[in-house]
Amino acid sequence: MKRREIIKLLSAAPIAGGIIGAGLPLDSVKAEPVAAPKRDLIKELGLKPIINADCVCTTITASLMPQEVLDAITSTASEFLNLDEVQDKVGAKIAEMCHAEAATVTAGTFSAMVLGMAGVLTGMDTNKVKQLPFLEGTGMKSEVILQKSHADGYHAALTHAGVKLIFVETFEEAEAAINDKTAMLWYMNKGTATGKVKHAEWLALAKKYNLPTMIDIASDANPVENLWKFNDMGFDLVALSGGKAMRGPQSAGILMGKKNLIAAARLSAPPRTGICRGHKVNKEEIIAMYVTVQRYINLDHDKEWKIWEDRAAVITNGLKAVDGVSTEVFVPPFNSRSPTLNIFWDSNKIKLTGAQLREKLINGEPAIAVKGMRDKRTHGIEATVFLLKPGQEDIVLRRIKEELQKTS
Ligand SMILES: *Cc1c(COP(=O)(O)O)cnc(C)c1O
Repeated sequence: MKRREIIKLLSAAPIAGGIIGAGLPLDSVKAEPVAAPKRDLIKELGLKPIINADCVCTTITASLMPQEVLDAITSTASEFLNLDEVQDKVGAKIAEMCHAEAATVTAGTFSAMVLGMAGVLTGMDTNKVKQLPFLEGTGMKSEVILQKSHADGYHAALTHAGVKLIFVETFEEAEAAINDKTAMLWYMNKGTATGKVKHAEWLALAKKYNLPTMIDIASDANPVENLWKFNDMGFDLVALSGGKAMRGPQSAGILMGKKNLIAAARLSAPPRTGICRGHKVNKEEIIAMYVTVQRYINLDHDKEWKIWEDRAAVITNGLKAVDGVSTEVFVPPFNSRSPTLNIFWDSNKIKLTGAQLREKLINGEPAIAVKGMRDKRTHGIEATVFLLKPGQEDIVLRRIKEELQKTS
């Protein structure tokens, strides 16, 4: 190359760079020439999406986070933050929104109950925290009283902290069971209909003996007033799930209530190494719980309800065309309160059981999950609509209709 040509080239270089920089949008300069195609991980892993007309059940991953909550996760995941500070700030916001003195984000309701129980037992004594779950000879109390009908499996959380459960049925039995080993009175909200002792009486009994109370309202965030109702009533600790009606992160939940008990509960939780070390929730999910509660409180709940009613109507109206099929819409008072469908049929006209229909729906295209009837009728199913994506009610209707008509 001749000297003159080299000079020409050198002098042109910055100009060329300047032209590229000025002439193209900034992103296309910084980014790779062609963006890599987005991975479809569900397909890559051979997984099959399910239409959820069933429940906020863990088996099918419960609920779907709205964009606002997903944004909270992605926008906070890429910074290091002090975990205790995140809990402090988020806890204060959630407590304020829910009329509690304090709150902390847990790894779900079960986790909230283990943590809360631990806090009740240890108080702020870090020596006691180290001794959990072995209570004998420690001076810690060791019994929790609950109603038999409230024991539907989740109460096992309490035993993780080492306590013995004392089951009662009546107010008198509960009062007789109280002794100097009694640590707490526990109540499960969705057991209210079947339990003999209701909220106010349970609280009055606890107050008489100066005992702390905890209520499990895991799947009862609907109606929205429930977020503060039980704090207002006087329960010392309230546990609920993030990923049920509120549609927050499914691996998160909330423990809220009295300041001293929340502070004590946190002594057993990450970042410390108490018995709840395994109940870790990281910053992005903790912050997402803040956004979840805020979004849920501000939501137009009447509008949501109307959307659910309309979806239920699409299915009931559509099934009128199938001879022998009846439908009814009901609202369960506890556990995912929402317009819910009973779909049942004349077994002489349609030769299919509810269990067989459920099987065909979950194995069909697309896969659809529905429930069996809660009154155990064999020729029918129960379906919810609050977890459907817009338009999926048409698919649910079409598939149910197809299967029922095939056999009639
Ligand atoms: C779902 C549920 C739980 C467990 O909630 P997680 O958030 O999954 O830990 C506890 N108690 C009741 C009554 C529930 O319905």
